[in-house]
Amino acid sequence: MRCPYCDTDHDRVVDSRPSDEGSAVRRRRECQACGRRFTTYERHEEVPLLVRKRSGLVEPFEREKLLAGIERAIAGRSVSAGAPGAIADDIEERARAQGREVASELLGLMVLERLRALDPVSYLRFASVYKGFEDVGDFEREFKELQKTTAPKRRS
Ligand SMILES: [Zn+2]
Repeated sequence: MRCPYCDTDHDRVVDSRPSDEGSAVRRRRECQACGRRFTTYERHEEVPLLVRKRSGLVEPFEREKLLAGIERAIAGRSVSAGAPGAIADDIEERARAQGREVASELLGLMVLERLRALDPVSYLRFASVYKGFEDVGDFEREFKELQKTTAPKRRS
């Protein structure tokens, strides 16, 4: 690291500690030429997550887009205000754990899985957009499926 005082590229790290809640490392350095100390911050460079759409098109992941879809499904329902953000964060984290690229179908399924556990109406709303339901029959079938899997849990 080049010294900001004398421009010599020869220093010694005297202290190193996490800052910004762990997202950066703060290093205190001492220039070996002039003896002055300076501080540097090192950050992780974020690797972009890519989304492969059904059409084969690949585009960068947009958390805002995912969040907007979840919020539309949840609108007016009595779920906690922080729920959409928490779901979006969780899904982004899980998608990143899979690798650099994630299929849009998988993102949709992960949202469905979370909404299913959270609120049946929000789940059906999201499913209607995501799965492209065309008539009431589709809804009813999906709703029956939902009852089949959630009913036993409610009784226990
Ligand atoms: Zn120096």
